[in-house]
Amino acid sequence: MTTKNLDDLLTEGVAGRCVLLRSDLNVPLDGTRITDDGRIRAALPTIRRLVDAGARVVVIAHLGRPKGAPDPQYSLAPVASRMGELLGSEVPLAGDVSGTSAGEMVRGQSDGSVTMLENVRFDPRETSSDQVERGELASELGELVGRNGVFVSDGFGVVHRKQASVYDVAWLRPAYAGSLVLSELEVLRTLAGNPERPYTVVLGGSKVSDKLAVIEALLPKVDRLLIGGGMCFTFLAARGNDVGGSLLESEMLDTCRRLLREAGDKLVLPGDVVAADAFSADANRKTVPVDEIGSDWMGLDIGPDSVRTFSETLATSRTVFWNGPMGVFEMAPFAEGTRRTAAAIADSTAFSVVGGGDSAAAVRLLGLSEEKFSHISTGGGASLEFLEGKELPGVAVLEQAE
Ligand code: AMP
Repeated sequence: MTTKNLDDLLTEGVAGRCVLLRSDLNVPLDGTRITDDGRIRAALPTIRRLVDAGARVVVIAHLGRPKGAPDPQYSLAPVASRMGELLGSEVPLAGDVSGTSAGEMVRGQSDGSVTMLENVRFDPRETSSDQVERGELASELGELVGRNGVFVSDGFGVVHRKQASVYDVAWLRPAYAGSLVLSELEVLRTLAGNPERPYTVVLGGSKVSDKLAVIEALLPKVDRLLIGGGMCFTFLAARGNDVGGSLLESEMLDTCRRLLREAGDKLVLPGDVVAADAFSADANRKTVPVDEIGSDWMGLDIGPDSVRTFSETLATSRTVFWNGPMGVFEMAPFAEGTRRTAAAIADSTAFSVVGGGDSAAAVRLLGLSEEKFSHISTGGGASLEFLEGKELPGVAVLEQAE
């Protein structure tokens, strides 16, 4: 069965109809200031097409992790305001998710306008494991847009979640994939299918346990797997290095030993690291080979020799997927490994995909040009789950629902 998409909806005609649009607008905030509006920008192409076609767009999204109740610090107000600026016309925000305020706002909408519902995670039914509870919220959302309304799924960052506004609502109204979801899936299908070789995957971030499934799934498919970030230390320890006070997941040591054995020279670990005597930007630092970290020190970034080795591999790769920073990039003294690895990916002629989350934020925070990457995904978790071979409920439902 095939998924209906935005083109199909526009062909069927959407003028005057309410469109419940699930977007991923989960941007990083410093208080009420948005520090990276990448996800809002990524949501705009679908919104603009719907507006131009005369739809009444009702955006539904989440922000942060409120505990299933309204919490002003997680209000979508700054997001609605930024979206209004980018669209050049105000985006009013309802005072609730599916209550009186949302109802009044949607009923008052004119053709070609955009409104936003308050953070859907203020309602505990959104993330409930009980299908009946999720179904209740989904019906309220369906009722908001009326019998003639439709659902467009464009929040790629949440399609791996079986949640009311991602999954359950798709059964209740005609459902379509938005252009962001379609373009993300197309890129990931290229990676999972038959990528041009050599195919190099760069993985970082804090924990091996989070990335284990993707490492297992990717090892048979890649030519090289370059590992940095906090997770490299469990591999280094499994290889016999004394990693001092670096991040270590002892319960993963056996698994890492097995993976090292199975991977042979496909799996490449850093040869040197930037170590610090405290987890702080002002800590004392030293750049040392991985077997000289010292017991009171911790590795917080990959070192220049490792960057060189990684860069050489990246320069000759034809396809690259990168997920996870190479060090604690949020602190300037430990950002260089991530910056230079990202720059090596940007400079390569490979088809290069940045796998969402922290890596996408790092590209922008470190001032690298986004255009130099073939694709920057908006969904870290979703892209990893896709590459692990898991079914994404928010995508599967678009194929299954009528
Ligand atoms: P993740 O959420 O697993 O993608 O991990 C991202 C986080 O890993 C970032 O906040 C980094 O600061 C952190 N990180 C990267 N390298 C290290 C390291 N060597 N030690 C501790 N944390 C790290």
